[in-house]
Amino acid sequence: MNRGRKSLLLIRIWAVLVLLALWVGSGLAGAPRNVILMIGDGMGYNTVRAAAYYQGASLVFEGFPVKYAVSTYPRGGGYDPQKAWASFDYVKSGATDSAAAATAMATGVKTSNGRVNMTEQHRKLKTIVDLFSEQGKATGVVTSVPFSHTTPACMAAHNGNRNHYAAIAREMLAGPLDVIMGAGHPDYDDNGQRVTIKMPGAYKYVGGPFLWAALKNGTSGWQLIETKRDFENLAEGKGLKPGAKVLGLARVRHTLQQKRGWDTLAPPYAEPLNSSVPTLAVMTQGALRVLEQNPRGFFLMVEGGAIDWAAHGQQLGRLIEEELDFAQAVAAAVEWIETHGGWEKTLLIVTSDHETGHLWGPGSGLPHTFAPLVNKGPGRLPGAKFFFAEHTNALVPLYAKGAGAELFAGYANEVDPKRGPYLDNTEIFQVMLGKAAWRIPVKKGKGLEKSAATWKEAVGF
Ligand SMILES: [Zn+2]
Repeated sequence: MNRGRKSLLLIRIWAVLVLLALWVGSGLAGAPRNVILMIGDGMGYNTVRAAAYYQGASLVFEGFPVKYAVSTYPRGGGYDPQKAWASFDYVKSGATDSAAAATAMATGVKTSNGRVNMTEQHRKLKTIVDLFSEQGKATGVVTSVPFSHTTPACMAAHNGNRNHYAAIAREMLAGPLDVIMGAGHPDYDDNGQRVTIKMPGAYKYVGGPFLWAALKNGTSGWQLIETKRDFENLAEGKGLKPGAKVLGLARVRHTLQQKRGWDTLAPPYAEPLNSSVPTLAVMTQGALRVLEQNPRGFFLMVEGGAIDWAAHGQQLGRLIEEELDFAQAVAAAVEWIETHGGWEKTLLIVTSDHETGHLWGPGSGLPHTFAPLVNKGPGRLPGAKFFFAEHTNALVPLYAKGAGAELFAGYANEVDPKRGPYLDNTEIFQVMLGKAAWRIPVKKGKGLEKSAATWKEAVGF
């Protein structure tokens, strides 16, 4: 090796080390003041399309300035864009579950399916909630399914098995979270009716009968709110005890709305909504009231949890209802941001943990036909079909706006022929901490410099 090449090599090593040091050392220092992560569980590109067609207008987050695709596979997996579009069936294998995907977003580490912030070697992983609360920031989770269910669990709990709901609930209620909202009420069914006979496991979602008793009698350290009116009052900033931790438990068993009634295959809103529970938007507003009290800022995760459940059930009507409820929660977050310091202070990320249902237009299928959904106008179900009842390994969409959203560009350094540049779900964690990518993402002439919008136009999606 001659002298010139040697010194060039040294300069390169030095540059990499400096970048690495900057990257590692940046810690939370570069993190936005507030981070709101909104996860549509099971939400794919066509989930968004179906709801937008039904609504007759784009969903609020489709207008965000930063848009990429995200790979979601669990530890040991992968995603091959060429294979994904060469065979309609490719994405039916290798899919993540919500636990591995939410762990990736909350910790930046890939694990195997079923694990809540635990590696295969049973090592506990520090989460975004742990990191933010260590900085004196407030933290919270909101969902439309039981609060101890997997996605909110992965923000704050650690367990080798996502189904250990009672243990997860106990850890969440003992930990740093300042606000927790969701379903999982032991005294009500899926229609919001009071149950008189308790089934085994009735208290699992709230951490067992003893913890429930403590929550009810006020000795748990949590302010428990349950009625729709209580949620609405909190959303308006009423009834808030300063400094109190708030558990908002909607009076319903599994979901706010998705499991109600008899005909879950009915068109959207054909069956009346449960009238005794808040919307996800009202819950989001209430959670923000609690979190905004902290002058140092906060992390909030909001999950549209039953989008996935509707897709597993092949319920197109309920899927659209859940997606629109989620979009309204995003609109509530946008309104809060625009009236509380603006986009310079808060990063808003809307994404998904995985696609569920392999939702495509009629006529899709073997060997490699991906037909678009058919828009039949507002208020009418689009032409769409579920081609799978489980999760897929398809890329999911990500929409972002606000403080630090530009950092996503540095991570979106792989390209899918139809979805455009994409990042990995673990990299969402890095952006939430305000960490810039140290890899150089842009290779001129390979299409990487094109925006997602350009890519979508080019392929007609
Ligand atoms: Zn699922």
